[in-house]
Amino acid sequence: MKTYTPTIGLEVHAELLTESKLFCGCRNDPNSDDPNMFICPICVGYPGALPYMNKQAVEHMLRIGVALGGELASFTEFDRKHYFYPDIPKGYQISQYAFPLVKHASLNKVGIERIHLEEDTAKSAHDVCSRGSVIDFNRSGVPLMELVTEPVIHSAEEARAFGDILQQTLRYLGVARARMEWGEMRVEANISVSKTDTLGTKVEVKNLNSFKAVSGAIEYEIERQTALLEQGEQIAQETRGWNENTGKTFSQRSKETSAEYRYMPEPDLPKYYIDRMPEWDAESLRATLPELPERRMERYTEELKLDAKKADVLVKNKPLGDLFDGVLQTVEHADAIRLTANYLSSDVMQYVEEGNDTLFERLTADALAEVIQMLIDGELSSRGAKEVIAVLVKEGGAARGIAERQGLFQESDESALQEVITKVVAGNEAAVAEYKAGKEQALQFLVGQVMKETRGSANPTKAQELLKEALK
Ligand SMILES: [Zn+2]
Repeated sequence: MKTYTPTIGLEVHAELLTESKLFCGCRNDPNSDDPNMFICPICVGYPGALPYMNKQAVEHMLRIGVALGGELASFTEFDRKHYFYPDIPKGYQISQYAFPLVKHASLNKVGIERIHLEEDTAKSAHDVCSRGSVIDFNRSGVPLMELVTEPVIHSAEEARAFGDILQQTLRYLGVARARMEWGEMRVEANISVSKTDTLGTKVEVKNLNSFKAVSGAIEYEIERQTALLEQGEQIAQETRGWNENTGKTFSQRSKETSAEYRYMPEPDLPKYYIDRMPEWDAESLRATLPELPERRMERYTEELKLDAKKADVLVKNKPLGDLFDGVLQTVEHADAIRLTANYLSSDVMQYVEEGNDTLFERLTADALAEVIQMLIDGELSSRGAKEVIAVLVKEGGAARGIAERQGLFQESDESALQEVITKVVAGNEAAVAEYKAGKEQALQFLVGQVMKETRGSANPTKAQELLKEALK
């Protein structure tokens, strides 16, 4: 029996990181704690207020287009997309219909049909006020990218992988923060199943606010639709929501068709001839692109031979990868790659996960390079390095100065160590006797005593060497 093949297309919205909103000068700060602070007659939709275009937002879109190998529009216009909802006071959203800024792009082998620019809506809240629902217009008019993939994805894992690499790419480009938990990136999935080459009836699942929700909703829909078809029932074309708690999708409404949106060209904005802007030809834009995550991953695993897991941590967290590259520029030693990758993917990553999001202002590549160099030269123990990094993360400063202040330099100075060893040998007769009787473990105990006596600052290899000498 032929099985059902799932087919999935994704629509991804991402708020663009610009100084001001898309059609007015208000600050782009949709997650501010103070509602309705960054608003004006334009973004609140007063009659007669006229929009004007944010150049930075258009440039972000074109850079995304070039990064994803898309075709940039030579001409574009904006359209009104009509629908009624309290968070859209004009009764329409300014979006793009016939002339998206970017077409035919691709990422991670997934074809992208179009990427267009539109304004975000305001935000309704239903549970903050006892008298009814309230609306925060800080988000109204924030520039929003909408990216539509072709229906070429066939599993929840593929969809998740696409979302993941897209999120990283937007962050590398510096065009979006794309934190899903903040609503800065939102995913909708169109899912259908079919036994034949003809696609089945698609169901749209909206407002997926985490990668976990994306996979969960897709898996649930594949199962639900397959079961319905097996029972000889039809799939209704509709929009569904996702309930995180039950792990199920639920019917919301029948899907609007584009005719119902009554698209029309936005008469209050001019037409734009992108190809008349010399700084916006594909070559000039390409010159502004940083190294992108796919390429960085390749470089780390293939050229620098990092293991995939560590490389993944450094690629997914761009500032960590930037630090890594910065250290390697200064420290030239065969061990530098391994040591730096270790400290970044374990110690530093842990501080990042604890929510220390300003730590990169203090832990600079220069400071970390100094730590790694001191490790390589045997001046610091690995424990000492961890302590210096902890101080750098909290307070910043110069690594060498911190190591000095905290007394973390390893005592490889023989005469100072010799004194401690004489003391330890004299004070631990039993262990000394055991060692002399051939018990190797006793030596480790004595090394431990030396470390204790020097409060960890002795170089353990050196201590062991001198102990053996003393016990001959
Ligand atoms: Zn405004």
